[in-house]
Amino acid sequence: MKIVMLGAPGAGKGTQAKMIAAKYDIPHISTGDIFRANIKEGTELGKKAKAFMDQGQLVPDSLTLELIMDRFSKADCANGYVLDGFPRTIPQAEALTKALSEKNDKIDFAINVDVPDENIINRMSGRRCCLKCGGTFHVKYNPPKEEGICDLCGAELVIRDDDKPEIVQKRLVAYHEQTQPLIDYYAKEGVLQNVDGTVDVEVVFENIVKILEK
Ligand code: AMP
Repeated sequence: MKIVMLGAPGAGKGTQAKMIAAKYDIPHISTGDIFRANIKEGTELGKKAKAFMDQGQLVPDSLTLELIMDRFSKADCANGYVLDGFPRTIPQAEALTKALSEKNDKIDFAINVDVPDENIINRMSGRRCCLKCGGTFHVKYNPPKEEGICDLCGAELVIRDDDKPEIVQKRLVAYHEQTQPLIDYYAKEGVLQNVDGTVDVEVVFENIVKILEK
């Protein structure tokens, strides 16, 4: 099963992607997490990506594609994956479609987690992340058991630099200009499914499972 998660930053697609990955035993591939891990390790890729991420801009397609194509070649991708934060532009989506079609393969579902812009800024201000394991929480909607501590690995939770309000605004602009057109792209491919992302995390997940198991 190959799944693409779509939605604005902060729509909750990462949380849902992790839940899907756990239920169906497929890898959760987040380009944002991979970039952040590279930044933490101080790699060349991390240094290049950071300059764009800090400004709320997308990392150039060439860098992103190199990274993701390498990830797809790993053995754990054999039975599918759930992609979170990739593709984010039409050229990325086209490159993915091409790479899959060369293997007679395709994306099975593109799930758009729909949350209006007015809810996004509010949500992002409460988001807390674990830079060690990629866990994400929300102080109100998905709180960790112990305040400020990751439930999954016990590391300290932080506010991502790019979750600060002025950067969130820029990320939303990038989303509308570059990523939202993917909704039409996957609708034309016949695989788009919309879910309401404003309801409880568990309810969003139940609705996604219904779609995947229909
Ligand atoms: P995310 O964790 O998915 O919200 O991504 C955080 C940041 O990483 C984004 O704002 C972009 O700067 C960068 N990024 C992540 N995925 C991509 C992608 N597929 N294409 C370009 N930039 C990306």
